[in-house]
Parts: sequence; C-alpha cells; structure tokens
Amino acid sequence: MAVEKVVIIGSGPAGWAAAIYTARAELKPLVFEGAITEPNRLNGTLPLGQLNLTTEVENYPGFPSGDVEPYLDHALPKDVRQSMAPHSKHGVSGPELMELMRQQAKNFGTRIVTDDIVRVEFSKRPFRLTSLEGGVIEAHAVIVATGARANYLGLPSEDAYKNRGVSACAVCDGALPRFRNKPLVVVGGGDSAVEESTYLTKFASRVHLVHRRDQLRASKIMAERAAANPKIELVWNHELAEVLGDDKQGVNGVTLKSTTGAGTRQIPATGVFLAIGHTPNTAFLDGQLALTPKKYIQWTVPFRTNTSVEGVFAAGDVADDYYRQAITAAGSGCQAALDAERWLAHHE
Ligand SMILES: Cc1cc2nc3c(=O)[nH]c(=O)nc-3n(C[C@H](O)[C@H](O)[C@H](O)COP(=O)(O)OP(=O)(O)OC[C@H]3O[C@@H](n4cnc5c(N)ncnc54)[C@H](O)[C@@H]3O)c2cc1C
Repeated sequence: MAVEKVVIIGSGPAGWAAAIYTARAELKPLVFEGAITEPNRLNGTLPLGQLNLTTEVENYPGFPSGDVEPYLDHALPKDVRQSMAPHSKHGVSGPELMELMRQQAKNFGTRIVTDDIVRVEFSKRPFRLTSLEGGVIEAHAVIVATGARANYLGLPSEDAYKNRGVSACAVCDGALPRFRNKPLVVVGGGDSAVEESTYLTKFASRVHLVHRRDQLRASKIMAERAAANPKIELVWNHELAEVLGDDKQGVNGVTLKSTTGAGTRQIPATGVFLAIGHTPNTAFLDGQLALTPKKYIQWTVPFRTNTSVEGVFAAGDVADDYYRQAITAAGSGCQAALDAERWLAHHE
C-alpha cells in the first residue's frame, strides 16, 4: 500500500485551508470529507462542516455584500451550481463559501474521499486510518480538522426554524437584520450563554436569558454581568418547550415551560439562540490523542498545531473551543499545513 504524505480528516474551513496549503506545497493531500449518512445528517456533521448549515456569512473577509452569482457560475462546476440553493444577493452564503473552498482545494490537486474516518492507529508510523466503508490508508502525517457541532435541544420546532430565527452562534448571526431592535431569547446557563446574551444586547431590544434552574452555572463575574445588564432579563426555572413562528416570517416567539410546575408562558421574539455547548468530533480518536477536559484536542506547543502525537496536527474548532469562527478555523488549517510540511521535511 502506498503511504500518503498527508491525510486531512474533516471538511470545514480548517480542512480545506489545510488542503489548499498542502496541495500547493506538492504534498498531494488526501481529504476525508465525511460520509453522507443519516447519523451525520442528524448530528449536523455532513461534509462541508458547520458553515454549510447556515445562510448568510457576513464576517468572512473578502465577501462584502453584492451579487456573487456570476462569480459562482464561473468558479464552480455546473453540477455543483445546479444543486445549490438560489443566491440571496447579500454577499456569500455558508454553502457557497464552503463549495468555493472545496473547489479551490481540488483545483490544486487535492483528492477527496466522501467517507468518515472511524478508527485511527497513531501508536506507530506510518499512521493507519480506517474509513466507514472499510478502506485502510497509511499516512506519514495527519491533520485532524473534524470540527465541533453545536448542541441543540432536539425539538422539532427548533429544527424547523433553523436559519429562520433559530441559531447557535450569536457572533455569527446576531447582526442580521431580523434580530435588530427585536426581543430575542437565549437558552442556557453557562458562561457562553451570558456571553452570547451580552453580545446580542448590541442589537436586540431585549434579551430573555432562559435557564432551567434558579441560578446560572456561569462564573460569578459573568452571572453578575448578566444581572447588571438592563437589556438582559433572566427567566429562571423555565425551559424551551416550543419555538413559535410561521412559514413567511420565521420565528415570532417561544413557549416556555416552568421546571417548578408553574405551567407555560409565551414570549414574543424574532430569534432563539441556543447556548448549551458544543460537542467536539473527537470520539473516533478513541483516546489516542490527548484531549482537554471538554474533549477538544489538546494543542501541545504554544502557537503551533502540534498534538500529543508527533506527526499528527489539529486545526479548527476540534481544538479551539474559544474563537469558533470560520476565519480562525481556516487560519489554523493553514498553520497545520505549514507545521505538517515542516515536520515531513525531516521525518518522511
Ligand atoms: C449556525 C451557525 C452559523 C455560523 N455562522 C458563522 C458565520 O457567519 N461566520 C463564521 O465565521 N463562523 C460561523 N459559524 C462558525 C463556523 O461555522 C465554525 O467555526 C467553522 O465551521 C469551524 O470550522 P472547522 O473546519 O473547524 O470545522 P467544521 O466546520 O465543524 O467541519 C468539520 C467537518 O468535518 C467532517 N468530519 C467530522 N468528523 C469526521 C470524520 N471522523 N471523518 C471525516 N470527516 C469528518 C464533518 O463533515 C464536519 O462537519 C457558524 C456556526 C454555526 C453552527
């Protein structure tokens, strides 16, 4: 079996940035972009990553608002264009941006396998990877860029209004017109729920922070910050029972259920932000890389993408539970490619 120089696992901005850089460095990368399966659909881990699940992307540099339709027609193959949703003329959408990244990686010779890696053997080199369909690949270097999926409650109404008022990323979506000067709901009780609520007060008329208990899990300073913010209303002892809305406008409210038996209540809102954590896609590593207590891959060298195993690098949200943006994921994909290239120069 021929040993690959570098295999990249994952197909979000981190994976494609790593592929573009390693392909241009003539390392002939092989990308496992994930499998098209029902479990991946339900998990939100289909190929092309988290950004493929959203609509407008207003903060990725290089795509100001405008009609990118002619450019997409030119840059992407016909069959890809035909399968894409009509363009909104507001700049670039998540699926468009991801197809462009994938195409850019392909243009430089990246080979792509539409399958999951389900098993890794990192104890000796070359590393061995096994795919869902049973393929076995050996590689001198591996870049793990499998991302982290946002957690949702799993309500059918939540699913129905995703991208039409339901979001799991305030920094990504908070500035969109539908949320401006309108009441919003944030669900959660930890530091990130307070952070998201505070961020949303820049745009919202009011933010209802809904928590199941009678005190926040957030650190004391964050909880005090939420309590002191006149735009944040803390709604204790309630959980989200249903997202309300209609086909035309999307979300227009929520039904909350008391966790202390006090019945239900409705709150008008144009947006519902879930801030109940993320799950990093690291289970398939089966303990072979050091993870953080939250199960993200541990970067082991400051300002580098090295992991606990020499020759295995990590990029994007799978190792970064702090920034979680497309641009930072792409940036660390570039770093991982350069780290892998330099490592291979001495170890292949
Ligand atoms: C609703 C929403 C809206 C967002 N909007 C924005 C925005 O406007 N701007 C912004 O900058 N960021 C936005 N983000 C955040 C952004 O999407 C992420 O930070 C970014 O996608 C992370 O990139 P990544 O490459 O690390 O991983 P991901 O995008 O998570 O991609 C990883 C992918 O790798 C694949 N994979 C996983 N496991 C395996 C495996 N075992 N084998 C093979 N393949 C595998 C899967 O397809 C997975 O989806 C948004 C996120 C969400 C949830």
